[in-house]
Amino acid sequence: MRRIGAHVSIAGGVSNAIYRQQDIGGNTGQIFVSSPRIWKVSPPSSEEASSFRMQRKKFDQAPYVVHSMYLVNLGTKNDDIFYKSLKALQEELNVAHMLGIEYFVFHPGAHTGGFEREEGLKRISQGLNELLVPKDTKLLLENTTGKGTTIGRTFEELAAIIEGSDKDFSSLGICFDTCHAFCGGFPIHTEKGLESTIDKLDEVIGIENLGVIHLNDSKHPFDSRKDEHEHIGMGYIGDEAFKRFLNDPLLTNIPLILETPVSQDLDHSWDISKVKSFIRNSDV
Ligand code: MN
Ligand code: MN
Ligand code: ZN
Repeated sequence: MRRIGAHVSIAGGVSNAIYRQQDIGGNTGQIFVSSPRIWKVSPPSSEEASSFRMQRKKFDQAPYVVHSMYLVNLGTKNDDIFYKSLKALQEELNVAHMLGIEYFVFHPGAHTGGFEREEGLKRISQGLNELLVPKDTKLLLENTTGKGTTIGRTFEELAAIIEGSDKDFSSLGICFDTCHAFCGGFPIHTEKGLESTIDKLDEVIGIENLGVIHLNDSKHPFDSRKDEHEHIGMGYIGDEAFKRFLNDPLLTNIPLILETPVSQDLDHSWDISKVKSFIRNSDV
């Protein structure tokens, strides 16, 4: 069975994410466990956590993903930000563990504060060394558009971070965001470009280390290095490209998480139905 869901809110308690996902027709999902733009992580109570686990089992939503807060940056020369990031990531990882969540996605960071790119890459690897990744959770590095000093646009950079750390693919992996790849210069909108991108991913990272796909169309053109998500098929990637992407035999077992916009008339249920209609030969 294909796994398709969306990033949903935990407002009112983390179990509400399960009901929201159910409402939009998803069978996998992603949440923030803290406010994405504030450093503070407030863990759920043990009652809330066990209710989340129970509801998730009941509605068969799996696997599940925690997305880290946006403030974290392990690639910076600034010690204050680096250590705050480490602390926040560890606290969020601990919440993922409490909730029994399989994947934890974060953006590798940006080489700021006077660091060169190589120094930034090294610092991220050092950061990874400090983190205790719960046994049943995988830490996934998300590819980025490469805007500014951002690290992680290419598979080579993601691989360098992992290889430079003392961890390996038993606790680490990657998350592939279609909007970020497209705006970062990977031509996934053409048949050939998709093939070469997936080949590269397999060669450099290994398809078996791809944990989650973030399925987003893009409000900005190819190679623009911008990052604004659009409803599936309504952006520059387009319907035909998503049909090819969704039916690529190498990707059929990877959970799909939508991070598409939500408006009054077009919410995640629209995108989920559209994605399902694009998938051939399956029991979605
Ligand atoms: Mn992300
Ligand atoms: Mn994403
Ligand atoms: Zn994005």
